[in-house]
This record gives sequence, structure tokens and C-alpha cells, in this order.
Amino acid sequence: MKLSRSALAADQTHHIHPFSYPAAVREGRFRRIVERAEGVYQIDSEGRRSIDAVSGLGCVNIGYGREEMADTIAEAVRTLSFHPVFWECTNPYSAALVEKLDQLTPANMQHFFFANSGSEANDTAIKLVRWYWKLQGKPQKQHVISRDMAYHGMNLLSASLTGLQPCHPQFSLPIAGVSHIMAPWSWVNGADLDDEDFGLRAAQALEDEILRVGPERVGAFIGEPMQATGACVTPPASYWPEIRRICDRYDVLLIADEVVTGFGRTGQWFGQQYFGFEADITVLAKGISSAYFPVSAVVLNTRVGETLSTNPEELYHGYTCSCHPVGAATALKNIQILQDEGLVERVRDHLAPRFWQRLEALREHPLVGEIRGAGLGAGLQLTADKASRSFFPEGSGIDALVARYTWDKGVIVRDLGADTVGLMPPFITSDDELDQIFSALRHGLDRALLSLE
Ligand code: PLP
Repeated sequence: MKLSRSALAADQTHHIHPFSYPAAVREGRFRRIVERAEGVYQIDSEGRRSIDAVSGLGCVNIGYGREEMADTIAEAVRTLSFHPVFWECTNPYSAALVEKLDQLTPANMQHFFFANSGSEANDTAIKLVRWYWKLQGKPQKQHVISRDMAYHGMNLLSASLTGLQPCHPQFSLPIAGVSHIMAPWSWVNGADLDDEDFGLRAAQALEDEILRVGPERVGAFIGEPMQATGACVTPPASYWPEIRRICDRYDVLLIADEVVTGFGRTGQWFGQQYFGFEADITVLAKGISSAYFPVSAVVLNTRVGETLSTNPEELYHGYTCSCHPVGAATALKNIQILQDEGLVERVRDHLAPRFWQRLEALREHPLVGEIRGAGLGAGLQLTADKASRSFFPEGSGIDALVARYTWDKGVIVRDLGADTVGLMPPFITSDDELDQIFSALRHGLDRALLSLE
């Protein structure tokens, strides 16, 4: 579809864009106007082809514009363009997706509830936690503990779980019943501890908070296995097993928000497998459909799932498009592509090792303080001074500057804030494209460094 002048004018004047400066849009200062995308490339209104090294928003894992996805979606629209899964109804697409997920997921992922976005799924997860504890005769277990730097979405509840401070004041958040503990961000919180000790210390913050709130009041702890949006904060190996132990000790449900890590980003199907723990509740979105259609899911283990799925009362929760037949068909095909093309194994065995080799080579760059991440996801912590781990002055926009200069060489990376540049290439990225990403990134870093002098 071609962009018309009148449509662009309407967008500029009447469209309030998420996570944008509205005044900049009103003045027509669009960062990118993207008309098409294919494979790992985005093509903008000026005809520039850029490699999307962040898979959209960490979601288009199988790459853009696949014919077989288009065919699948078209077939589902022609056959059953909509039917709710409310009122004890189902349909072939929804049932087939559940069957596929049941086969694919590990033993702690047994019962599925569907929504449309990560935000909705996280809200749903907390509602199900509340309902679960009520059914257990512990209605006071309502409090949820999250972490600084977390990103769990933007609804009133999920935005409250989010631990990125700027997301709260405009909307008088967080709501009551949510608190945050420190992120396992060794760059800031690690002092001189080694990885193992720091992981244990960061997990200890959960125990301290449970004891502060009172274990009888704490229903759940939620965390992303690797904090994607939040500066790609990635915990050491000792962290998650210790978090699991603490949750067990105080009878607190553990929710893994796998919206980004689910479906292969770490080189394992799920981030829990990479980090070596099992959650009670897992939240999935993005990679479940590679964002060809909005699909998300809350997955319960046997303990929680058997309680909720055998309850005789009606469940007063749901979304019009929960397990939409077209969404289900889309997710099914996406998973089939991941399996048929061995894309998760490709990330693990081929892409991630090359990716980290290239990242390692950037470690010596004067601007790079630390490199965090897992599998095919990484954040480069930029620093004004490596020895003191100092940040650039507030508002310096150093990460945006690097992203801007990297884009000059045809590669899109993401300024994550906190002086961090994020990378999450699609799983179909070729060796040559990976090399292009890193040569553009080095250019971006060099140019940004020059501009500081
Ligand atoms: N959870 C995580 C880990 C995310 O990264 C995101 C989005 O980036 C969300 C939840 C929210 O998902 P959505 O934007 O689909 O509501």
C-alpha cells in the first residue's frame, strides 16, 4: 500500500502514537515511515532498505512477509473469521493451537488462557493468581512483587508491574498491592561481587521484601528471565534457582514473563530452560505468532492449572479475541515454521555463537562498558568511564546517538535508555547480514565517540 499525502497529514495531526513525543509527530518529525518489510529488511518511504536488528519489537522472529503465513491467515479468515471461545465453545484452530502448545511446552506448562497482548496476559496472570489463592482459602495473598527495570506492559496493572520509573508518574502508578525490588543489574547494583555472589544477593532482595510485606500477603513474584526492554538486564546463573527456592519457601507463586524470551530468543524454546528454573505461571506473547497477529497466553503449571480448570464456578474473565481462530492459525503456522526450519536450534548452535563472538569484539570499544544478554538478544551498556561505571549526563541520549549513526549504515538497533543499545535480530538472519549489523554498529559507536570529543 502506498502512503498518500492526505493519510500522512491525518496521521500527523490525529494519531497519538505510543511511546512517542506527540509534539514531534504533530510537527511531522517522524523517525521512520516504513512501507514494506521482507525477510530481515524494512523498506521506508524513501526507498531505504534497512536490516531490522531488533525484530520489530523483539517479536518478528521468523522474519517479515512470509508467503506461507499470508496463505495460512487468508485460509483461516475465509473459513472462520471469528468465533469466541467463551461459553464452553471452541473451534478447530483454537483446539489445534492448544494441542500444539501442550506438546511443545515443558512439563510445568499445562493449562492455557489466551489474550491478545503481553499487557493483557500479565493482567490475566495476576487475576488468576488472586483467584487461585481465594480457591486455596488464602484470599489475603494478593500482593505482587516485581523488579526495577522490569517491563510487563502498559495496562493499569501490568504498567504497575513494570519497573521503569518514567512509566508511572503520568498515570499515578503503581497501583496498591505491587512493590518492586532491585534488578539483577550488576553494572549498577553489583559493587565488586562476583557473578555467583551477586546473583544470590539480588535474589535475597526478594526474600527481604516477602518478609517486609508478610508472606501471608504475598501471592506472586513476577520477572522476565532476561529483562529485555529494561536495558537488557540479565541475571547471573545463580539468580533464578535461588528465586525459585525463595518462592517455594514462602509459598509464593513464581511468574515468568516470557513475552520476549519465549519461542527461541535465548536459543532454548523458553527462557526458563536457558536459566534453569520452572515457573508456576508463564506469560507468552510476541514470539508465539512472530507478531503476524496479536496473540498472547498465560500458561499454568499443574498445581495452579488443576485448581482453576476443575473449578465448577464460571470464570468471569476473558477477551473478545481470546484464542481468535485467525490468531490461533497464525501461531500454529509460526510454531511450525520454527520447528520445520529448526530456527531455535539455529539460534542456539549457529547464530548465537557468531553473535557473541562479534559482540565480544566490541568489548574493547571505549564507549562499551558491559555486554549483557542471552542467545540472540543483547544490550550494550555504554559508559562515560569504564572504571567507575559512570552513566552519561541525564538527557545525553548517547544510546539514541549510536542508534542514529548505526542506521546511517542501514541497520536498525534500539536505544533502550539507561545508556544501553539493544540488539535482537530475527532468527533467519544470514551470516552476511549479521556481519553487516556489526560493521554498522561499530560505525555507530565510532561516530558517537567522535561526536563526544
Ligand atoms: N512483557 C514483556 C517482557 C515485554 O517485553 C512486553 C512488551 O515489550 C510486554 C510484556 C507487553 O506486551 P504488549 O506490548 O504486547 O502489551
